[in-house]
Amino acid sequence: MAKILILGAGYSGMTAAAALDRNSEPFTLINNNAYHYFTTLLHEAAGGRRPPMYYTVPIADVLRKPTSTFVQDEVVSIDREKKIVHCKGSDHSYDYLVCTIGWVPEYFGIPGMQEHSLVIRNVDTCIEIRQHIEQQFQQYVQDHDVRHLRIVVGGAGLTGIELLGELLDWIPKLCLQYGIDRSLVDVQNIEAMPTILPQVSEDLRAVAYNRLTELGAKLRTNTKLVRVEAGVVHLDGDEQVEAGTIIWTGGVRANPILTEAGFTVDRRGRAKVNEFLQSVDDDHVFIGGDCAWAEEDGKPIPPTAQAATQMGPLLAHNVTSVIHGQRMKPFHFHNLGTLASLGPDVGVGVMMNVPVKGVVGGLAKEGSKLKYLYQLGGLRLAVDKLADVVDI
Ligand code: FAD
Ligand code: NAD
Repeated sequence: MAKILILGAGYSGMTAAAALDRNSEPFTLINNNAYHYFTTLLHEAAGGRRPPMYYTVPIADVLRKPTSTFVQDEVVSIDREKKIVHCKGSDHSYDYLVCTIGWVPEYFGIPGMQEHSLVIRNVDTCIEIRQHIEQQFQQYVQDHDVRHLRIVVGGAGLTGIELLGELLDWIPKLCLQYGIDRSLVDVQNIEAMPTILPQVSEDLRAVAYNRLTELGAKLRTNTKLVRVEAGVVHLDGDEQVEAGTIIWTGGVRANPILTEAGFTVDRRGRAKVNEFLQSVDDDHVFIGGDCAWAEEDGKPIPPTAQAATQMGPLLAHNVTSVIHGQRMKPFHFHNLGTLASLGPDVGVGVMMNVPVKGVVGGLAKEGSKLKYLYQLGGLRLAVDKLADVVDI
């Protein structure tokens, strides 16, 4: 029996594994955590909306069949010639590889950024952000140095804006907790391009801008972060901003393991695939999610969970088709829209070509969470998580 190995239990890997599990098709999944986490909600975890583990699902709750094997380990490299994946704990051979190990922050070589900024990457980095901000507030209580109360978020893409929404909801609660005057807290978002949120239309951008500035954020556009030191960001035009908290949301690139394995990659390290999500370099390797350089109508598909979850079941179908001598299916991306939350209850975006904003936008975002859980584990998972939210 041909061995299928899936690397990474993110949106694409987990949905691929769930599809194979449903069909009792044997495979091994390797992931660095025993849980799958909802990257799309990590800004909530960083902003303290719910405890970080709320944003996770144990992999054992999704993979229920004896034909499915899970290994918790960290992938280090892929030897395509020998068809072996080297992990920290042990090595694993494969006949067919499904490579879905996601993304890493893109630092663009900005000096000091990686060393001195926090990032929303996984559950652990969100815990780090929360704890860091809370420690800064505690330190302010001791020394009254207002730099502890300045938070700089670099980048006003969807991640930066969604994070701001959460922070602005959390900060008044922190101020109350530590007896700090809210007006002393300075939250600055710094964006290199002329606008925030380039993904949405101008009027929806204005809704986001007004909401976030009303809640007290300073949104600075046409301003580039060029260097970072401990507690200081340097902007173009020689300006410096001293801040106790510096969070980088300036973009993403594919996991570097793909470049190191010699795949043909684009400028963000994504490995080129054909219409069947099969590597153009190696027909024993399928690639999905943020690792894949896939195109629709000659244009690259942006790295989103939406695309990753559409790819997952197709990866499962195509890898089993090759093994069983059946026809593979081509991938087609169905863009259902983009939604950005602006704190717990409000959002903006476009759903099925219809602009949504305010509470409707917030509700639409909540609905998309439940839809995803249903896709992953049917009613059982969706109802379990819903119960967590409403405490039943
Ligand atoms: P990931 O979800 O990143 O999964 C990769 C998996 O591999 C993880 O489980 C990781 O732990 C594991 N892994 C990584 N390296 C290793 C290793 N060396 N060894 C073993 N395991 C490893 N997109 C949307 O469409 N809608 C949204 O609303 C949305 N919101 C977002 C909000 C935030 C704050 C962020 C940061 C992103 C958001 N995105 C959203 C983008 C989306 O999260 C990504 O496109 C998506 O996570 C990509 O899925 P993936 O399966 O490729 O990788
Ligand atoms: P992004 O690349 O979309 O945005 C990064 C922003 O940082 C850009 O606006 C860029 O101009 C800015 N930037 C880069 N360098 C800078 C510098 N030196 N100084 C100041 N600003 C700088 O990255 P992201 O927001 O992390 O999103 C990554 C991917 O995840 C995207 O595909 C996005 O669509 C997806 N995502 C989707 C959602 C959602 O659908 N709600 C939420 C988050 C992320």
